Amino acid sequence: MKELPTVESLASAPSELLLKLWEGLGYYRRAKNLQEAAQLVLQKHQGKFPSCAAALQELPGIGPYTAGALQTICFNKPAPVVDGNIARVLARIFGIEEAGASRTFANLSYTLSRTVAEDLRLDCGTLTQSLMELGALICTPKSPRCSVCPCSSKCQAYATGRVEELPKTVKRAAITKLSRAAFIVKNRSRYLIQQRPNGEVNEGFWEFPNVALAHGGDSAVRQAAREFVHGELTQPKAIARNIHHITRYRITTHFLLLNGKVKTSGQWKTLPEIRKLPFSTSHRKILGALEKMSAEPKRKIH
Ligand code: SF4
Repeated sequence: MKELPTVESLASAPSELLLKLWEGLGYYRRAKNLQEAAQLVLQKHQGKFPSCAAALQELPGIGPYTAGALQTICFNKPAPVVDGNIARVLARIFGIEEAGASRTFANLSYTLSRTVAEDLRLDCGTLTQSLMELGALICTPKSPRCSVCPCSSKCQAYATGRVEELPKTVKRAAITKLSRAAFIVKNRSRYLIQQRPNGEVNEGFWEFPNVALAHGGDSAVRQAAREFVHGELTQPKAIARNIHHITRYRITTHFLLLNGKVKTSGQWKTLPEIRKLPFSTSHRKILGALEKMSAEPKRKIH
């Protein structure tokens, strides 16, 4: 907010600055969406944020939930707002068995929101935020704190002893394990780095050259290293192994220090130069180890 405080400044920010500011927050597509949304707000809405659901959902990154949250909280307009927390609270209070976000919850949420705004003349943004907070702090998935809940006298799950049962749980997608090898190639004090192409996860971010592995075993790592260099592979050194979670993926990256001529191109940068670039989180984690290695005094050979 300090660096890009207005719609105009966000819309025209250089993408490298934007990614640098977002570095470490994950879900990098969101930073791009924010910028594209700011550009659309300028082009289509004369810089004024729209308040209707259709116009909001035309903006990149805004789906029905965010549109509803913006409508109720920023504009005090009745709208359905259903995320996992709110669905759980509503399911318990109204004794609904259905799991997950469904039309039932959207309709119920909209009716509540309209009642609050139109019949009771209260702030429907406060309703949205109260349900969010209730779900996050009191009506939690496990061991909800019903004894301090302000809704306990109206809650059907509480009245019928079905708090632990509702809502019925949806099966989560299984975790997929992936493995990658990343290569640290040094030439004097510079390291080879590459920028992720457009259209890929983490597009625009820099990282060490890396490839997907068929499996996480040592043989796959060695094979990838052999294919990465020209000629004989001399003394690859495993320097770190990093585990990173993105949505349902668990990605293990094996970092190897390589000598020799490599079969890929990129840019050669010093560690201080790399520190200034937007750099993939999992790769950034090993910069400290590389700095330490560079700082170690070379042993004298007599
Ligand atoms: S009484 Fe218990 S189950 Fe019902 S809304 Fe409150 S915390 Fe949730």
